[in-house]
Amino acid sequence: MIGRVAGQIDRIAMAVLVGALLAGSAGFTMLNQQPVSAGMPTRVVISPDERSGLPPSMLTTTASPTVAAAAAATNMSVPAGTVPATAPPERPSFAVARVAPHLEAVEPKTSGVGVYADVVMTFSEPMNRPSVESTFDIQPKVEGRIVWSDDFTLRFAVFKFAYATTYQVEVRGRSLRGVPVSGSRSWSFTTVSAPPDVLLPGPPTTNVPILTYHYIRVNPNSRDRMGFALSVTPADFAAQMDWLARYAFHPITTEDLYNNLGGARGLPSKPVILTFDDGYADFYTTALPILRSHDFKAVAYVVSGFIGWPGYMTAAQIREADRSGIEIGSHTVSHVNLAQSSAAAVRAQLVESKQAIERVIGHEVVSFCYPSGKYTSAVASQVKAAGYHDSTTTIGGYSHTMSDRYVWARLRVSGGEPLDQFAVAVNTAF
Ligand SMILES: [Zn+2]
Repeated sequence: MIGRVAGQIDRIAMAVLVGALLAGSAGFTMLNQQPVSAGMPTRVVISPDERSGLPPSMLTTTASPTVAAAAAATNMSVPAGTVPATAPPERPSFAVARVAPHLEAVEPKTSGVGVYADVVMTFSEPMNRPSVESTFDIQPKVEGRIVWSDDFTLRFAVFKFAYATTYQVEVRGRSLRGVPVSGSRSWSFTTVSAPPDVLLPGPPTTNVPILTYHYIRVNPNSRDRMGFALSVTPADFAAQMDWLARYAFHPITTEDLYNNLGGARGLPSKPVILTFDDGYADFYTTALPILRSHDFKAVAYVVSGFIGWPGYMTAAQIREADRSGIEIGSHTVSHVNLAQSSAAAVRAQLVESKQAIERVIGHEVVSFCYPSGKYTSAVASQVKAAGYHDSTTTIGGYSHTMSDRYVWARLRVSGGEPLDQFAVAVNTAF
């Protein structure tokens, strides 16, 4: 009798194996009427058809070791199976298939959550993605994007939460089997308080080389002298970043410098600021991967009216750069000469570019850079009035103060500059 049952089990296991091989990851549906995706936890379900092939005693004697053996044998035939050998025999998988999908884990659920935390939901079974996405809701509203790790796990990658705010999250939807989510579908969490915004007096002067880059590319036209001077080749740029890393320089942002001069926070040793003017596409395609490989921060000054134009970063690329720790600053709407614009035109360039970029990245824009370094003291005052914290120029230098923060000096990195010349320029500040 036992031998005959074992033979049955072997045949069932073989049928499952053959089915799985024939139909790939979907092969298992013939057994349990439930789609199973490759690499995902699988619940072993013995459907009535297969069960009917077993002696009647096995259908009711759920604690029988042979049932466990059947489960184990069936499980062995499924490469992605994760059912433990001790699968609870008192709950024949039959019933499991009828449990509605539910949230197994959500995060965050606490207070003191960081403003860049992701919201993560893990479901008990593979979900119909559009049905979940269309029902996902977070209040108050916050910008972010939805990313599925797999059919079980949804991540809402937020651009930035507000400080000291309680968010209410709710999600519904249905499983791939079409069963609506049951059980608890909403939860809340609270973000940390903002750092103090009353700035104490900081150091009178901070020495930080602010390096100016434009294109990171091989200049396409060898007779274009201007283009050559503005283009640092990817190889030279990579060598410069390697050099900064080897000699323990620490790239910071202009906002870090502003906060340091305001007394709000210290700076790492040997700080340096890497700025990229104009928002060219090669910042995203070429510079950003090199910066990321060193975990370097940088500042990209974007011309809001050029976003998405050929040769310029798209809104999505700017958002991703922002999420990678790049500070996105404004470089006006249309790269005009502000020193020769009317006060109203200057104001429009400052305010409209700030608002446009804020819509793209989902949080405040506080850094500015004068196109071609052109400004007047009246323009600098307007930069302040528009709500920016600081602005950079094309004036050469590396000493910065709080009071000259709307005319911060920079060091230009030109195309073809030898590495030792770069090293001397950066080292001069220390
Ligand atoms: Zn520019």
